[in-house]
Amino acid sequence: MKGLTLHGEHDVRVEEVAEPELLEPTDAIVKVDVAAICGSDLHLYHGTVPGVLPGTVIGHEYVGVVAEVGPQVRCFSPGDRVVGAFHVACGICPACRRGTFHQCENGGILGYGLGFGNLQGTQAEYARIPFADLTLRHVPKVLTNEQALFSGDILTTAYGAVVNAGLRPGETVAVIGCGPVGIMAVQSALALGAAQVLAIDLLAERTALAEGLGAIPVTASECNPVTRVNQLTGGAGADVVIEAVGGSKTLALAFDLVRGGGRISAVGVTAEDSFAYPLMASMVKDISFRIGLANIHRDMDATLALVAGGRIDPTVVISHSLALEEGPHGYHLFAERKATKVLLYPG
Ligand code: NAD
Ligand code: ZN
Ligand code: ZN
Repeated sequence: MKGLTLHGEHDVRVEEVAEPELLEPTDAIVKVDVAAICGSDLHLYHGTVPGVLPGTVIGHEYVGVVAEVGPQVRCFSPGDRVVGAFHVACGICPACRRGTFHQCENGGILGYGLGFGNLQGTQAEYARIPFADLTLRHVPKVLTNEQALFSGDILTTAYGAVVNAGLRPGETVAVIGCGPVGIMAVQSALALGAAQVLAIDLLAERTALAEGLGAIPVTASECNPVTRVNQLTGGAGADVVIEAVGGSKTLALAFDLVRGGGRISAVGVTAEDSFAYPLMASMVKDISFRIGLANIHRDMDATLALVAGGRIDPTVVISHSLALEEGPHGYHLFAERKATKVLLYPG
Protein backbone atom coordinates (compact mmCIF):
# COMPACT_ATOMS: atom_id res chain seq x y z
CA MET A 1 0.00 0.00 0.00
CA LYS A 2 1.02 3.64 -0.34
CA GLY A 3 1.90 5.74 2.70
CA LEU A 4 3.64 9.02 3.53
CA THR A 5 6.93 8.37 5.27
CA LEU A 6 9.38 10.66 7.01
CA HIS A 7 13.08 10.40 6.22
CA GLY A 8 14.42 13.52 7.91
CA GLU A 9 13.94 17.24 7.94
CA HIS A 10 11.60 18.38 5.13
CA ASP A 11 11.82 14.91 3.58
CA VAL A 12 8.34 13.37 3.35
CA ARG A 13 8.01 10.68 0.69
CA VAL A 14 5.24 8.69 -0.93
CA GLU A 15 6.37 5.10 -0.56
CA GLU A 16 5.17 1.57 -0.94
CA VAL A 17 5.01 0.28 2.66
CA ALA A 18 3.85 -2.96 4.27
CA GLU A 19 0.11 -3.18 4.87
CA PRO A 20 -0.59 -3.17 8.61
CA GLU A 21 -1.72 -6.39 10.28
CA LEU A 22 -3.55 -7.07 13.51
CA LEU A 23 -0.86 -7.42 16.20
CA GLU A 24 -3.02 -7.43 19.32
CA PRO A 25 -6.52 -8.81 19.90
CA THR A 26 -7.70 -5.26 20.70
CA ASP A 27 -6.50 -3.83 17.35
CA ALA A 28 -8.54 -2.78 14.35
CA ILE A 29 -7.33 -2.19 10.82
CA VAL A 30 -8.94 0.90 9.29
CA LYS A 31 -9.05 1.65 5.58
CA VAL A 32 -8.33 5.39 5.59
CA ASP A 33 -10.73 7.46 3.47
CA VAL A 34 -9.37 10.86 4.45
CA ALA A 35 -6.37 11.94 6.53
CA ALA A 36 -5.28 15.45 7.46
CA ILE A 37 -1.93 17.12 8.02
CA CYS A 38 -1.83 18.49 11.57
CA GLY A 39 0.21 21.38 12.96
CA SER A 40 1.86 18.71 15.11
CA ASP A 41 3.04 16.94 11.94
CA LEU A 42 4.91 20.15 11.11
CA HIS A 43 7.15 19.56 14.13
CA LEU A 44 8.07 16.19 12.57
CA TYR A 45 8.54 17.87 9.21
CA HIS A 46 10.87 20.48 10.73
CA GLY A 47 12.85 17.73 12.46
CA THR A 48 12.19 18.89 16.01
CA VAL A 49 10.69 15.62 17.28
CA PRO A 50 13.50 13.18 18.10
CA GLY A 51 13.24 9.42 17.67
CA VAL A 52 11.31 9.07 14.44
CA LEU A 53 12.89 6.18 12.56
CA PRO A 54 13.39 6.90 8.83
CA GLY A 55 10.52 5.35 6.89
CA THR A 56 7.94 5.79 9.66
CA VAL A 57 4.45 6.36 8.27
CA ILE A 58 3.29 9.68 9.73
CA GLY A 59 -0.11 11.28 10.33
CA HIS A 60 -2.71 10.93 13.05
CA GLU A 61 -5.96 12.60 11.87
CA TYR A 62 -8.17 10.14 10.02
CA VAL A 63 -11.63 8.93 9.10
CA GLY A 64 -12.15 5.61 7.43
CA VAL A 65 -13.92 2.28 7.38
CA VAL A 66 -13.07 -0.66 9.63
CA ALA A 67 -11.52 -3.41 7.50
CA GLU A 68 -10.68 -5.98 10.17
CA VAL A 69 -10.94 -6.31 13.95
CA GLY A 70 -9.11 -8.40 16.53
CA PRO A 71 -11.09 -10.99 18.55
CA GLN A 72 -11.38 -8.71 21.62
CA VAL A 73 -12.83 -5.69 19.77
CA ARG A 74 -16.48 -5.48 20.79
CA CYS A 75 -17.77 -2.10 19.60
CA PHE A 76 -16.74 -2.17 15.94
CA SER A 77 -17.16 -4.47 12.95
CA PRO A 78 -15.84 -4.45 9.41
CA GLY A 79 -17.70 -1.86 7.36
CA ASP A 80 -18.22 0.62 10.22
CA ARG A 81 -17.36 4.26 9.40
CA VAL A 82 -15.07 5.57 12.12
CA VAL A 83 -13.08 8.56 13.32
CA GLY A 84 -10.19 7.99 15.69
CA ALA A 85 -8.23 9.87 18.31
CA PHE A 86 -4.64 10.86 17.54
CA HIS A 87 -3.48 9.17 20.73
CA VAL A 88 -4.35 5.68 21.84
CA ALA A 89 -5.19 4.54 25.36
CA CYS A 90 -5.82 1.16 26.94
CA GLY A 91 -8.73 2.15 29.17
CA ILE A 92 -7.70 -0.07 32.10
CA CYS A 93 -4.40 1.26 33.50
CA PRO A 94 -4.48 3.56 36.56
CA ALA A 95 -4.07 6.70 34.38
CA CYS A 96 -7.00 5.69 32.15
CA ARG A 97 -9.12 4.82 35.19
CA ARG A 98 -8.51 8.34 36.47
CA GLY A 99 -9.83 9.63 33.13
CA THR A 100 -6.40 10.92 32.07
CA PHE A 101 -6.38 8.88 28.87
CA HIS A 102 -3.60 11.04 27.38
CA GLN A 103 -1.37 9.78 30.20
CA CYS A 104 -2.09 6.08 29.52
CA GLU A 105 0.78 3.82 30.60
CA ASN A 106 0.27 1.71 27.49
CA GLY A 107 -0.61 4.58 25.18
CA GLY A 108 1.06 6.39 22.33
CA ILE A 109 0.55 8.76 19.43
CA LEU A 110 0.01 7.42 15.92
CA GLY A 111 2.93 8.18 13.61
CA TYR A 112 4.98 10.16 16.15
CA GLY A 113 8.06 8.02 16.71
CA LEU A 114 9.80 6.10 19.47
CA GLY A 115 8.93 8.55 22.23
CA PHE A 116 5.23 7.91 21.61
CA GLY A 117 4.96 4.14 21.18
CA ASN A 118 6.61 3.85 17.75
CA LEU A 119 3.23 3.43 16.07
CA GLN A 120 2.74 3.78 12.33
CA GLY A 121 0.58 6.71 11.25
CA THR A 122 -2.57 7.24 9.24
CA GLN A 123 -1.44 9.16 6.13
CA ALA A 124 -1.68 5.86 4.28
CA GLU A 125 -4.22 3.55 2.69
CA TYR A 126 -4.60 1.47 5.86
CA ALA A 127 -3.70 1.97 9.52
CA ARG A 128 -3.50 -0.28 12.56
CA ILE A 129 -5.43 1.28 15.43
CA PRO A 130 -4.52 -0.10 18.89
CA PHE A 131 -7.21 -0.34 21.61
CA ALA A 132 -9.85 0.19 18.93
CA ASP A 133 -12.83 0.14 21.30
CA LEU A 134 -11.49 3.20 23.11
CA THR A 135 -9.61 4.97 20.30
CA LEU A 136 -12.36 4.90 17.67
CA ARG A 137 -15.86 6.38 17.49
CA HIS A 138 -18.64 5.65 15.03
CA VAL A 139 -19.13 8.63 12.73
CA PRO A 140 -22.71 9.87 13.34
CA LYS A 141 -24.81 9.20 10.22
CA VAL A 142 -25.58 12.91 9.75
CA LEU A 143 -21.91 13.84 9.45
CA THR A 144 -19.64 13.73 6.42
CA ASN A 145 -16.15 12.33 6.81
CA GLU A 146 -14.77 15.87 6.71
CA GLN A 147 -17.13 17.09 9.45
CA ALA A 148 -16.10 14.24 11.76
CA LEU A 149 -12.36 14.22 11.00
CA PHE A 150 -11.21 16.93 13.42
CA SER A 151 -12.96 15.43 16.44
CA GLY A 152 -10.02 13.02 16.54
CA ASP A 153 -7.57 15.87 17.09
CA ILE A 154 -7.66 19.62 16.47
CA LEU A 155 -11.30 20.33 17.31
CA THR A 156 -11.22 18.26 20.47
CA THR A 157 -7.81 19.68 21.43
CA ALA A 158 -9.18 23.20 21.17
CA TYR A 159 -12.47 22.37 22.87
CA GLY A 160 -10.58 20.63 25.69
CA ALA A 161 -8.33 23.67 26.12
CA VAL A 162 -11.40 25.86 26.65
CA VAL A 163 -12.94 23.32 29.05
CA ASN A 164 -9.64 23.08 30.96
CA ALA A 165 -9.65 26.86 31.33
CA GLY A 166 -12.96 26.60 33.18
CA LEU A 167 -14.69 29.09 30.89
CA ARG A 168 -17.83 30.58 32.39
CA PRO A 169 -20.62 32.01 30.20
CA GLY A 170 -20.15 35.71 29.53
CA GLU A 171 -16.36 35.71 29.80
CA THR A 172 -13.85 37.11 27.31
CA VAL A 173 -11.48 34.66 25.68
CA ALA A 174 -8.29 35.64 23.84
CA VAL A 175 -7.03 32.99 21.43
CA ILE A 176 -3.36 33.25 20.40
CA GLY A 177 -2.87 31.68 16.98
CA CYS A 178 -5.59 31.32 14.34
CA GLY A 179 -4.24 28.21 12.69
CA PRO A 180 -6.65 25.29 12.57
CA VAL A 181 -6.41 24.71 16.35
CA GLY A 182 -6.94 28.39 17.15
CA ILE A 183 -9.93 28.59 14.79
CA MET A 184 -11.44 25.57 16.55
CA ALA A 185 -10.78 27.29 19.90
CA VAL A 186 -12.66 30.38 18.69
CA GLN A 187 -15.65 28.21 17.75
CA SER A 188 -15.46 26.17 20.96
CA ALA A 189 -15.29 29.27 23.16
CA LEU A 190 -18.36 30.73 21.44
CA ALA A 191 -20.24 27.43 21.68
CA LEU A 192 -19.40 27.23 25.40
CA GLY A 193 -20.76 30.70 26.10
CA ALA A 194 -17.95 33.24 25.72
CA ALA A 195 -19.32 36.78 25.42
CA GLN A 196 -16.46 37.85 23.16
CA VAL A 197 -13.52 36.09 21.59
CA LEU A 198 -10.42 38.04 20.58
CA ALA A 199 -8.57 36.18 17.83
CA ILE A 200 -4.84 36.92 17.52
CA ASP A 201 -2.54 35.92 14.68
CA LEU A 202 0.26 37.51 12.68
CA LEU A 203 -1.58 36.83 9.41
CA ALA A 204 -4.55 39.06 8.55
CA GLU A 205 -6.26 36.36 6.45
CA ARG A 206 -6.29 34.09 9.50
CA THR A 207 -7.76 36.68 11.89
CA ALA A 208 -10.28 37.45 9.11
CA LEU A 209 -11.33 33.79 9.10
CA ALA A 210 -11.87 34.03 12.87
CA GLU A 211 -13.83 37.26 12.40
CA GLY A 212 -16.15 35.48 9.99
CA LEU A 213 -16.94 33.04 12.80
CA GLY A 214 -17.83 35.77 15.28
CA ALA A 215 -14.48 36.73 16.84
CA ILE A 216 -12.89 40.18 17.04
CA PRO A 217 -9.72 40.10 14.90
CA VAL A 218 -6.42 41.21 16.45
CA THR A 219 -3.72 41.09 13.77
CA ALA A 220 -0.49 41.14 15.75
CA SER A 221 1.64 42.25 12.78
CA GLU A 222 -0.45 45.43 12.51
CA CYS A 223 -1.02 46.36 16.16
CA ASN A 224 0.28 45.66 19.63
CA PRO A 225 -1.95 42.77 20.78
CA VAL A 226 -1.54 43.68 24.47
CA THR A 227 -2.72 47.26 23.88
CA ARG A 228 -5.58 46.07 21.68
CA VAL A 229 -6.79 43.41 24.13
CA ASN A 230 -6.63 45.94 26.96
CA GLN A 231 -8.75 48.34 24.89
CA LEU A 232 -11.29 45.62 24.21
CA THR A 233 -11.53 44.56 27.85
CA GLY A 234 -11.73 47.95 29.53
CA GLY A 235 -8.09 47.66 30.62
CA ALA A 236 -8.64 44.41 32.53
CA GLY A 237 -7.25 41.79 30.17
CA ALA A 238 -8.90 38.54 29.05
CA ASP A 239 -10.59 36.20 31.52
CA VAL A 240 -9.21 33.24 29.60
CA VAL A 241 -6.27 32.98 27.19
CA ILE A 242 -5.89 29.98 24.90
CA GLU A 243 -2.36 29.57 23.54
CA ALA A 244 -2.47 27.67 20.22
CA VAL A 245 0.92 28.35 18.64
CA GLY A 246 3.66 26.82 20.82
CA GLY A 247 6.84 28.29 22.32
CA SER A 248 8.03 30.84 24.84
CA LYS A 249 7.15 33.91 22.79
CA THR A 250 3.41 33.27 22.66
CA LEU A 251 3.38 31.85 26.20
CA ALA A 252 4.87 35.12 27.43
CA LEU A 253 2.19 36.97 25.44
CA ALA A 254 -0.49 34.88 27.17
CA PHE A 255 0.70 36.15 30.57
CA ASP A 256 0.57 39.72 29.23
CA LEU A 257 -3.01 39.30 27.96
CA VAL A 258 -4.65 37.60 30.94
CA ARG A 259 -6.47 39.57 33.63
CA GLY A 260 -5.69 39.28 37.31
CA GLY A 261 -7.25 36.04 38.56
CA GLY A 262 -7.58 34.78 34.98
CA ARG A 263 -6.68 31.44 33.42
CA ILE A 264 -4.24 30.47 30.66
CA SER A 265 -4.71 27.17 28.87
CA ALA A 266 -1.90 26.29 26.46
CA VAL A 267 -1.90 23.53 23.85
CA GLY A 268 0.80 24.73 21.42
CA VAL A 269 3.67 22.27 21.04
CA THR A 270 7.29 23.40 21.15
CA ALA A 271 10.73 21.82 21.08
CA GLU A 272 11.90 24.32 23.73
CA ASP A 273 12.19 22.58 27.07
CA SER A 274 12.01 25.55 29.37
CA PHE A 275 10.40 28.93 29.62
CA ALA A 276 11.07 31.95 31.86
CA TYR A 277 7.97 31.68 34.03
CA PRO A 278 6.80 35.13 35.16
CA LEU A 279 6.74 33.95 38.75
CA MET A 280 6.30 37.17 40.69
CA ALA A 281 3.82 38.72 38.24
CA SER A 282 1.63 35.62 38.10
CA MET A 283 1.87 35.20 41.85
CA VAL A 284 0.70 38.76 42.44
CA LYS A 285 -1.91 38.55 39.67
CA ASP A 286 -3.07 35.08 40.77
CA ILE A 287 -2.81 33.52 37.30
CA SER A 288 -3.71 29.88 36.71
CA PHE A 289 -1.57 28.30 34.01
CA ARG A 290 -2.22 24.97 32.40
CA ILE A 291 -0.41 23.27 29.50
CA GLY A 292 -0.72 19.77 28.16
CA LEU A 293 -1.48 17.24 25.50
CA ALA A 294 -5.14 16.95 24.65
CA ASN A 295 -7.25 14.29 26.38
CA ILE A 296 -9.13 13.40 23.21
CA HIS A 297 -10.91 10.35 24.63
CA ARG A 298 -12.50 12.54 27.30
CA ASP A 299 -14.02 15.08 24.92
CA MET A 300 -14.43 13.42 21.51
CA ASP A 301 -18.11 12.54 21.97
CA ALA A 302 -18.90 16.12 23.00
CA THR A 303 -17.30 17.63 19.90
CA LEU A 304 -18.99 15.13 17.57
CA ALA A 305 -22.31 16.11 19.17
CA LEU A 306 -21.58 19.84 18.80
CA VAL A 307 -20.76 19.37 15.11
CA ALA A 308 -23.80 17.15 14.54
CA GLY A 309 -25.95 19.76 16.31
CA GLY A 310 -24.69 22.49 13.98
CA ARG A 311 -23.01 24.45 16.81
CA ILE A 312 -19.50 24.13 15.36
CA ASP A 313 -18.44 23.84 11.72
CA PRO A 314 -14.89 22.46 11.69
CA THR A 315 -14.73 22.30 7.89
CA VAL A 316 -14.14 26.07 7.65
CA VAL A 317 -10.39 25.50 8.01
CA ILE A 318 -10.06 23.15 5.04
CA SER A 319 -8.18 24.91 2.24
CA HIS A 320 -6.71 22.03 0.22
CA SER A 321 -7.95 18.54 -0.66
CA LEU A 322 -5.21 16.50 -2.32
CA ALA A 323 -4.55 12.92 -3.35
CA LEU A 324 -2.29 11.09 -0.87
CA GLU A 325 0.41 11.01 -3.56
CA GLU A 326 0.49 14.83 -3.41
CA GLY A 327 1.23 14.67 0.32
CA PRO A 328 4.80 16.01 0.13
CA HIS A 329 3.47 19.06 -1.75
CA GLY A 330 0.74 19.38 0.90
CA TYR A 331 3.37 19.46 3.65
CA HIS A 332 5.27 22.15 1.78
CA LEU A 333 2.14 24.31 1.36
CA PHE A 334 1.13 23.87 5.01
CA ALA A 335 4.62 24.62 6.33
CA GLU A 336 4.78 27.77 4.18
CA ARG A 337 1.33 28.81 5.53
CA LYS A 338 -0.01 28.78 1.95
CA ALA A 339 -2.57 26.23 3.13
CA THR A 340 -4.68 26.54 6.28
CA LYS A 341 -5.48 22.84 6.44
CA VAL A 342 -4.64 20.06 4.00
CA LEU A 343 -6.71 16.90 3.58
CA LEU A 344 -5.23 13.84 1.89
CA TYR A 345 -7.31 11.22 0.09
CA PRO A 346 -5.74 7.78 -0.40
CA GLY A 347 -6.87 5.74 -3.37
P1 NAD B 1 -0.42 25.90 12.60
O1 NAD B 1 1.06 25.86 12.58
O2 NAD B 1 -1.17 25.57 11.35
O3 NAD B 1 -0.95 27.33 13.10
C1 NAD B 1 -0.24 28.15 13.97
C2 NAD B 1 -0.76 29.59 13.80
O4 NAD B 1 -0.06 30.40 14.72
C3 NAD B 1 -0.54 30.17 12.42
O5 NAD B 1 -1.75 30.71 11.92
C4 NAD B 1 0.52 31.24 12.62
O6 NAD B 1 0.39 32.32 11.73
C5 NAD B 1 0.24 31.64 14.07
N1 NAD B 1 1.38 32.26 14.75
C6 NAD B 1 2.67 31.94 14.67
N2 NAD B 1 3.41 32.75 15.46
C7 NAD B 1 2.53 33.61 16.05
C8 NAD B 1 2.68 34.69 16.97
N3 NAD B 1 3.88 35.05 17.44
N4 NAD B 1 1.56 35.36 17.34
C9 NAD B 1 0.34 35.02 16.87
N5 NAD B 1 0.15 33.99 15.99
C10 NAD B 1 1.24 33.31 15.60
O7 NAD B 1 -0.81 24.89 13.76
P2 NAD B 1 -2.20 24.31 14.30
O8 NAD B 1 -2.54 23.07 13.54
O9 NAD B 1 -3.21 25.37 14.41
O10 NAD B 1 -1.70 23.85 15.74
C11 NAD B 1 -1.30 24.83 16.70
C12 NAD B 1 -0.42 24.20 17.74
O11 NAD B 1 -1.18 23.25 18.49
C13 NAD B 1 0.77 23.44 17.16
O12 NAD B 1 1.90 23.71 17.96
C14 NAD B 1 0.34 21.99 17.31
O13 NAD B 1 1.44 21.12 17.41
C15 NAD B 1 -0.42 22.07 18.60
N6 NAD B 1 -1.31 20.94 18.89
C16 NAD B 1 -1.28 20.48 20.16
C17 NAD B 1 -2.09 19.43 20.53
C18 NAD B 1 -2.07 18.96 21.94
O14 NAD B 1 -2.46 17.84 22.22
N7 NAD B 1 -1.66 19.79 22.89
C19 NAD B 1 -2.94 18.83 19.58
C20 NAD B 1 -2.96 19.35 18.28
C21 NAD B 1 -2.13 20.41 17.94
ZN1 ZN C 1 -2.36 16.54 15.68
ZN1 ZN D 1 -4.30 3.17 29.89
